[in-house]
Amino acid sequence: MRIVPARDGGLVRLRLFGGELSADAARAVAQAALRCGSGTIEVTNRANLQLRGMRDEAHEALIAQVLDADLGPSAEGGDDLRNVMLSPLASDDTRALGAQLIDAMQGDAALHALSPKFALQLDAGEPLAMLDHPHDVWLSALDRDAVHFAFGFAGALRGAALGAIARADAVRFVMSVLRAFLALASDDEHRMRDLLARVDAARFLETLDVPAMQAVPQTWRRPHADASLRLGAHLEANGITYHVGAQTRLGRLDTASLAALADLVTTHAQRRMLTTPWQSVLIPGVGKQHVHAVLARLEALGLATDAHAPFARIVACAGSQGCARSRADTKADAHRLALLLPPDAEVHLSGCERSCAAAHPVDTTLLAVAPGRYQLIRQARTQARNLTIEEAAMWLARSTAHA
Ligand code: SF4
Repeated sequence: MRIVPARDGGLVRLRLFGGELSADAARAVAQAALRCGSGTIEVTNRANLQLRGMRDEAHEALIAQVLDADLGPSAEGGDDLRNVMLSPLASDDTRALGAQLIDAMQGDAALHALSPKFALQLDAGEPLAMLDHPHDVWLSALDRDAVHFAFGFAGALRGAALGAIARADAVRFVMSVLRAFLALASDDEHRMRDLLARVDAARFLETLDVPAMQAVPQTWRRPHADASLRLGAHLEANGITYHVGAQTRLGRLDTASLAALADLVTTHAQRRMLTTPWQSVLIPGVGKQHVHAVLARLEALGLATDAHAPFARIVACAGSQGCARSRADTKADAHRLALLLPPDAEVHLSGCERSCAAAHPVDTTLLAVAPGRYQLIRQARTQARNLTIEEAAMWLARSTAHA
């Protein structure tokens, strides 16, 4: 586990398997964030947690607390190999397969050479899933019982599949893909898209040591998923309990809020919550009699439970308070924009071209050009330059009115 330097102190990433966070682990994270850092906790767009403002001398204490909370890797050096993304609604069966993948990857020391950004997506057709991230390797169930999975590389799940494998072969297949990637990739090819820009996908597949792969109909596409299901209360697949979801403000929680969430899931749910790639939290297993109280408590904590709320429609990167690359204080500007945001507008504020906050497409990007000034980009085209936040809000209001 590394402390990465940032403008506001050290930054530590805690990888959560499938976003899973028990009440006890949440309390431990809140304590660690307070004792070892600034107390700022972020939910990332890979459904992990980041603790900001960490002090170098607190590194050992932090590691001890994280391991105590059972949030560390199972193998030394294996922390970066836990980028297996699941739906927040993944079943126990899918989670079990995800866990097998992670265990196998962590157990192979040769794979520790993979980039920390190298990511896998495993989905079984859940109605809520982040399908727009460009994962290096993805597996998507072809049938209701998830007996076979379509697979593809270096792209979003909506793209065409390259083939299919049986569930029983999934771990062996993924391990073969990762080993082949490391064998073929040059020193400056860190992601699957880098390699496939040079090596044809069909040729790459020929190098794999896997059981016979099946063809997938050209017309196959992963069923539509609905991101709005991450917010508010929705009946779960068991037909009895509800999941209740809420959006953090620009991906951030403070220690008191995280501890309050831990208390909430203890008293009103099943002592666990999930973080999501939309930087939100989702509480599964809420009884019908508790739904209203849980929604009210989440709102009282400043989280948005309605997809129309401004903070459900804005993302912003760390900005100049936390990142030396940023040309503007995107977080503060996003708070101002939230007060002015027209209905239905979705906006991403980015301090530079890296777009750390939005791995998925967002309707409008405000790219910082100077403190408080932004270039407005829509559909990959610059629509306006050097706007203040107020001018950007007016531009958005006009474009909504004309739509
Ligand atoms: S998008 Fe740029 S400015 Fe923002 S956090 Fe990432 S690197 Fe920093």
